[in-house]
Amino acid sequence: MEKLSQYLKWIEIDIDALVQNIQALRSQLRQGVKFMAVVKKNAYGHGAPEVCQHALEAGVDSLAVYSLEEALELREAGIDAPVLILGPVSSSAADIVVRQRLIATVIERELAHALSKAAKEQKIVAEVHVIIDTGINRFGVSLEEAPQFLSYLGELTNLNVAGLYTHFSSADETDHTPTRIQLEKFLDLARRFPHITTLHAANSAATLQFPETHLNMVRVGISIYGFYPSNAVRKSVSLRPVLSLKTRVIRLYSIKEGEGLSYGLTWVAPRDSLIALIPFGYGDGLPRLLSNKGEVLIGGRRAPIRGVVCMDQSIIDVTGIPDVRVGDEVTIIGRQGSEEITAGDIAELTGTIHHEVVTRLSGVLPRLYLRTSQPETCRAV
Ligand SMILES: *Cc1c(COP(=O)(O)O)cnc(C)c1O
Repeated sequence: MEKLSQYLKWIEIDIDALVQNIQALRSQLRQGVKFMAVVKKNAYGHGAPEVCQHALEAGVDSLAVYSLEEALELREAGIDAPVLILGPVSSSAADIVVRQRLIATVIERELAHALSKAAKEQKIVAEVHVIIDTGINRFGVSLEEAPQFLSYLGELTNLNVAGLYTHFSSADETDHTPTRIQLEKFLDLARRFPHITTLHAANSAATLQFPETHLNMVRVGISIYGFYPSNAVRKSVSLRPVLSLKTRVIRLYSIKEGEGLSYGLTWVAPRDSLIALIPFGYGDGLPRLLSNKGEVLIGGRRAPIRGVVCMDQSIIDVTGIPDVRVGDEVTIIGRQGSEEITAGDIAELTGTIHHEVVTRLSGVLPRLYLRTSQPETCRAV
């Protein structure tokens, strides 16, 4: 086990928070409703293999990723739970999809045919799901084409259409009408294909707000990581952020009143100032839009980011914060004492949503998986 002090920047993942979030969300479901954890984009930046392992231990039934590559990463990590691929798959990859028992989403005949053929060759039945576009106008079979497409799939051998699903455009918004309309359209179609056993629609927002959308299974992403999907969503269960982002002071120095700093000298010291350098920049996932705008926590206090955020480094103003030393821990996302900076705070400052803040964190940052604050495993990719 490596020592924490060897890291100059790292992500801490609170496994207990992850488990508690899953349990809290699960408690909202009717008996028998399955729980699919969405772990696309490296589990929203949290580290997919470890999140999956702990989520499965916490009672999650299955996993969803976006791409074949993400699904294969899970298989390589020894995770053999059901994995649904939400995005497109090339029909030339049918063989590996079937061999790895991955569940592809099919929206066109070419892939369905290729999967059927590969399954026949491997003498097994390949399971697929079909996504129906009920209004988001993105990825899916249109309602008009769906009946014919599903009939076509029914004729293919060694292929089992085990699931039918849809995705909501507006479940996290205050107007609930689009969600209701999408659900009605979806159920109207599903009623015509009663042999398809698993129906699913609910993302985090719908899982939290609309029990009638739970159907046979929910697909929860952002909320297992401790975030409410948006401010419009009722905080009906208690969720706790799973991820903290930390770095250290690597240089401490003074600058004189009137001196500028970082590229373009965009911040000019209004007084003699004590400055701390951190080895964390936009290349690591700290938005450059936080230049002269963001804050970090050090010594339990808020310290402003000064000048422009660089690719690998940023500069913070620690004037007036007592006892700052080189090596001190700096929290970019997370809590120090009574102060907290959330991914949501950063999202607000940079005009985006917390999903984007966490998914853009570099995949090569070491991730430490903690249980009640004891480092358990560490992954430095
Ligand atoms: C990302 C995604 C989800 C999860 O959405 P959250 O809002 O993060 O819960 C569910 N279904 C599909 C199809 C997705 O792409």
